[in-house]
Amino acid sequence: MNNHPGLDQLALFAGGDLPAWPALRLRAHLCLCAHCAAEVAALRTARLELRSAAAVLPAGLDWNALEAEMSANIRLGLSAGAIVDEPAVVDLNVPEPAGWRLAVVLASLSFVALAGWWLRNPVNLRPGADSAGAVLSEARPDGLALQSRGAALTLLNQPDQPAVTTVSWDGGARASFVDSETGQVTIHHVSAQ
Ligand SMILES: [Zn+2]
Repeated sequence: MNNHPGLDQLALFAGGDLPAWPALRLRAHLCLCAHCAAEVAALRTARLELRSAAAVLPAGLDWNALEAEMSANIRLGLSAGAIVDEPAVVDLNVPEPAGWRLAVVLASLSFVALAGWWLRNPVNLRPGADSAGAVLSEARPDGLALQSRGAALTLLNQPDQPAVTTVSWDGGARASFVDSETGQVTIHHVSAQ
């Protein structure tokens, strides 16, 4: 038989990497050619031996030497990376201009101090009292008070009736209580305009 397949075809077939149709043709040839069949068997044996040899670590492997070599390679890589990134490294010894940071800190402290002063001033917490002639409505435990230019008008609740008094930020004050005998609900609503 003269038409033998090439050694590359036999190697691909032995490794199972030959496509289906060429593999079918080669398999038919192997049934008739003892020479190529022996070649394929030898290739398969060599393949198995190579795979088993690769799975076993070589005898006399010096782990310490291998570790030292790997560490040296890692340090070399890190050094090379540091050299490449050198323009991007910020030198911490160079003093940065701290003027803007100081300005931000001072602005924050000023805001806190201003807010604290404003909140400590009780006039600022009363709605409608931001000018001298403004009308001030105020909810008191005994009723609602309406003050303007020194004069005051107070709506007194029943002394024995628990009342709910609320003040809204639009300058209005509201008090409501329930008469225990009649069940009547009384609501006072004073609005400063
Ligand atoms: Zn052959």
